[in-house]
Amino acid sequence: NKDKDEIDALEKRISDGIQFITPPVRFSELAISTKTLKGLEDAHFLELTDIQKCALPIALSGLDILGAAKTGSGKTLSFLVPILERLYRSKWTRFDGLGALVLSPTRELALQTFEVLRNIGRNHGLSAGLVIGGKDLKSEQEAISRMNILVATPGRLLQHMDQTTVFEWSQLKVLVLDEADRILDLGFAKTVDAIVKALPKERQTMLFSATQTDSISALARLSLRDPVVMSVHAQQ
Ligand code: ADP
Ligand code: MG
Repeated sequence: NKDKDEIDALEKRISDGIQFITPPVRFSELAISTKTLKGLEDAHFLELTDIQKCALPIALSGLDILGAAKTGSGKTLSFLVPILERLYRSKWTRFDGLGALVLSPTRELALQTFEVLRNIGRNHGLSAGLVIGGKDLKSEQEAISRMNILVATPGRLLQHMDQTTVFEWSQLKVLVLDEADRILDLGFAKTVDAIVKALPKERQTMLFSATQTDSISALARLSLRDPVVMSVHAQQ
């Protein structure tokens, strides 16, 4: 039953936290499902990058993250693995609606993230959708209500929140703001604020940004709760 699952999940989080006082080197050392591990290994992801070593143990324990790391450091898996694991641990099914949302600044970046998700998440029975506009709204509208994980650009997502009556997000568990500095540079500050304000408060949020500015701090204050702040610099 649901209560017992919650308690089991909590106990698992506590034990995860204790287990990883030393950083993991390989994905196989993480407390993750064999479905995810197989997805990673089949895609030849074996060892963690520095940001993944910092972010994954924290994110897998359910805490919020404010992460600074440069492009190419491996941020995508730092949030996709925790998303898959959060839904897996909650025994999420196709019928449970939207569980996780990733906001990306551009269509191209959203597509790249979506493809990594499809690749490493293939062993889970979850549905994932890309919401980036370009196609007609109607065909997206029909699919969007069935998705468990969405990778979206902010403008198009807010359009669906306003106009797609069957779209429902009240059960959302994980929000990711990827490349948040670029999202703000592209003029999406108000859009993202509106999205964040509409989402359930009880959720995990991960915000990644290459730079730390006042506007990122403001977004962090709005969207994160007691985040673990991490900054990982150049060298691997
Ligand atoms: P970022 O989002 O920080 O710019 P990405 O997540 O896009 O970085 O990763 C950059 C590149 O590194 C990609 O080509 C990705 O496939 C690769 N990569 C990421 N994590 C790993 C890993 N653990 N092992 C090997 N390659 C990785
Ligand atoms: Mg990235």
